[in-house]
Amino acid sequence: MFWADRIAAEIEERFKDRIKKGEPLLIRDEKTASGRVHVGSMRGVAIHGLLARVLRERGVLNEFKYEINDFDPFDGLPNYLPADQYKPLLGGQLYKIPSPDSSAPNYADFYGGEFMKVISDSGYHPTFYYSKDLYLSGKMDEAMRLVITNADRIREIYKEVSGSQRVSEWLPISVICENCAKVSMTQSSDFDGETVAYRCVPHELPWGGVGCGHSGRVSPFGGRAKLPWKPEWAAKWYVLGVDVEGAGKDHSTKGGARDVANAIARDVFNIEPPFDVPYEFFLVGGQKMASSKGRGSSARDVASLVPPKIFRLALLGKEINQAFNFDPAGETIPVLYDLYDKLAEGYKAGNDDDYSRLFTLIETDDRGDSKQKIEVPFLMRFSQLAFTVQMPHVDLYSAAAELKGSALTDLDRAELDERAAYAKGWLKGQAPEKYRFALHDTMPESASTLTAVQKAALGRVAELLEKATSPEELHTQIHSLKDELTIAPAELFAAIYLIFFGKSQGPKAGWLLYTLPRESTLVRLRAAATL
Ligand SMILES: [Zn+2]
Repeated sequence: MFWADRIAAEIEERFKDRIKKGEPLLIRDEKTASGRVHVGSMRGVAIHGLLARVLRERGVLNEFKYEINDFDPFDGLPNYLPADQYKPLLGGQLYKIPSPDSSAPNYADFYGGEFMKVISDSGYHPTFYYSKDLYLSGKMDEAMRLVITNADRIREIYKEVSGSQRVSEWLPISVICENCAKVSMTQSSDFDGETVAYRCVPHELPWGGVGCGHSGRVSPFGGRAKLPWKPEWAAKWYVLGVDVEGAGKDHSTKGGARDVANAIARDVFNIEPPFDVPYEFFLVGGQKMASSKGRGSSARDVASLVPPKIFRLALLGKEINQAFNFDPAGETIPVLYDLYDKLAEGYKAGNDDDYSRLFTLIETDDRGDSKQKIEVPFLMRFSQLAFTVQMPHVDLYSAAAELKGSALTDLDRAELDERAAYAKGWLKGQAPEKYRFALHDTMPESASTLTAVQKAALGRVAELLEKATSPEELHTQIHSLKDELTIAPAELFAAIYLIFFGKSQGPKAGWLLYTLPRESTLVRLRAAATL
């Protein structure tokens, strides 16, 4: 069974009584808008979005809410921002930090907005909300009171579950300093039922935040304080009534943040924690880069490399307990297209398996209906298409029609256009050298290395090409020259690539020769034969 169907069935089982009563389930995920968002956060979006869709298609009412956390402190300086301007702001709240440009009202809106656009462009449509609205509206107040009054129990949970120690007067609440508006450096104690005492500690924290030294007493409610993230996580489940919420592997280890939040949910809020969906990382170039580093690894950058359906395949194609490594400079993009084509062909052939199921779920966005029949266009293999778009004299539609063996439909052409646009971007960007081809106008100098048997073979290839009636037939005939001329096929193919591209590898030789402009190709082959 496909993983999303299996998990959806488990969710249905847990909430069967509520589902029977027609109560909608709440699915939630979040991202802190601490800077440009790493693509790894898209895996959570895609997994929660897919579960919401599969549950909906199973008749289970639900809502997927996605939080942009803008109430958290600005606690790391991204390397793409001017340090002189932003370092002094460390420790303040993200929604109060200025936006890098005038397109957004603040920092969190700028990066959160950019991420929300990637989410919707990728085909996911959760209900977005900002965490500051939870706090400023007073919706968190009751939960905050429960946390503060259960500080002793929370301290014990930290110790029991994660082994960390807190001093006895510690309160799990961070007041927003009335003097400097920073939140990271304040320490709170002595809740009297309405107010807490706090101090804005004036020494520098390891990541660069510095407090102002102010101390005072204040009511922590109505947005004047925030909870530390583990109690806050449980508090959000309680306040919003979250039923399903997964988390990345980094939070899901034993004794990790999730375990602490689960214990707080049970002991302090008296609720059962949401159904968990722990999932593995989505890496870029083999690394899980922090959001503050790594150009080219942001959600925006990676999503721009492939069409949304291929991006969804990257996000959802693996079992959730397996990591996915997206290497923009490696084989990832051609491999994803090949996988997509395999899924599509299997679906078209009527296969009723996990691959076809995956295809129906990535082909349309989260509003789609996976039971609706999908018309599969002609899919030109990405490596062949990428080659074709580099050949100035070759028409993509004609080459594709030749491969298809019949005239192209509008749907075929739309798919080709989309692939061609992304292939051109890939070739301008990080495509590996082996996929790059420039047709030489004249015989490349490296042709001087051809052996006598290679030259003789090229002469025979010219004769075969002259009479060829299909790329497949030509390829078979070229292949059979190995017996006639006692030449290894690799040696023969290398000779062909050499005289056109000055390199020893290339696309399938029969197809290549058949596709290139006939006259000049014959001239080149004959010239090579007589070198
Ligand atoms: Zn302060």
